[in-house]
Amino acid sequence: MLSINAQRLNDTLQSLGRIGETQGGMQRIAFSPADVEGREFVKSLMTEAGMSVRVDAAGNVIARKVDSEVGLPAIGMGSHTDTVPKGGKYDGALGVLGAIECVQTLKDAGMTTRHPIEVLVYTNEEGTQFRRWLYGSRAMAGLMEDDDLTCVDELGVSIGERLKDIGGDVSRISEAVRTPDEFSAYLELHIEQGPVLHQTGIAIGDVTAITGRIGMNVSVRGFANHAGTTPMGHRRDALMAATHVIQSVNRIATDEEMCRVGTVGMVEVSPNAENVIPGRVDISVEFRDETTERIRQAADRFREICQRLCQHWDVTIDIEEIGLASPAPMHDEIRAFIRDSARKLGFSLSSLPSGAGHDAQSMAEITRAGMIFVPSVNGISHSPHEYTSPEDCTNGVNVLLQTLLTLDSNLD
Ligand SMILES: [Zn+2]
Repeated sequence: MLSINAQRLNDTLQSLGRIGETQGGMQRIAFSPADVEGREFVKSLMTEAGMSVRVDAAGNVIARKVDSEVGLPAIGMGSHTDTVPKGGKYDGALGVLGAIECVQTLKDAGMTTRHPIEVLVYTNEEGTQFRRWLYGSRAMAGLMEDDDLTCVDELGVSIGERLKDIGGDVSRISEAVRTPDEFSAYLELHIEQGPVLHQTGIAIGDVTAITGRIGMNVSVRGFANHAGTTPMGHRRDALMAATHVIQSVNRIATDEEMCRVGTVGMVEVSPNAENVIPGRVDISVEFRDETTERIRQAADRFREICQRLCQHWDVTIDIEEIGLASPAPMHDEIRAFIRDSARKLGFSLSSLPSGAGHDAQSMAEITRAGMIFVPSVNGISHSPHEYTSPEDCTNGVNVLLQTLLTLDSNLD
């Protein structure tokens, strides 16, 4: 069975990982000089692998290899090379370099494919810059929102100028949109970024779905009053009520098992003074799950609990939904091919959801998408301590290659 060159893969991973390396970490924040340098490095590998390289209006790097004249749609593979501040060497990088390694391996073996192959490197996946995440892949899937075209960074530089720096053009961004007839399938290899595979000693993860999320701004209002003179029975303490609101978010996901995770990440107490009973507390609430129904169910249950807390604590609670990102199920047929490939290669295998967002969720809007996970040591990611062993990286890319070849012979 055809195998990738493990040494070459891990060498390129380390080489890309040195671009943007600083004391105490590394970072290639989208549009920064380090990000641009990383993109140039990746483009040189693509050219070496025999691919033609272009940059679309959204700044996505698109490499294409066409072997046959059959006129089939492409099989896409890709990920991102931007990172969060003080990020790791594997998040995104493995998917991009693994995809290029697959194409290089085919070239070395003199093998051709029926489908054109595209390797895609998406702009600003992390959204660190402009706080607009999955930027390039959403542009490709036709999911741009008005703010995506007009946003300005903290230095006052517009997205248009930043895109121009990397070869994009915001005025032509609609030209970045790809249609379903252009792709047969899409594959993304990624580190898990969570602890499941590492803890269970399993080599390969078949991703069931990328979880969706509902976000809410919750405002608890009581009455701010003197902490010394107001008897306990006469208080309308917004913070006391809020502590129960916060605990209910956790309980909904744990004891009640209504969704996969629930989090309160932000709390603002007002007036936040030591001798005043808090009159108002603003908190952020989010629930995530693999199905929209379960996300809705968790949100409904949360509203019901808040209503009861209002009566008990004599407060009002306003809940403002700030958007539902739908879960993206991975395609059953592609998942079956991924599992078959992993089994053929003799790897232990487990099916699991992705708690983090990925470019594959955008691509799932236009084609059949599948994701392959490899273990993250101790589940650490978005950190300089992020680590996946060379062996696990190699295993993941071999599954990617095997799946690519199976898709190429089975899909039209
Ligand atoms: Zn990533």
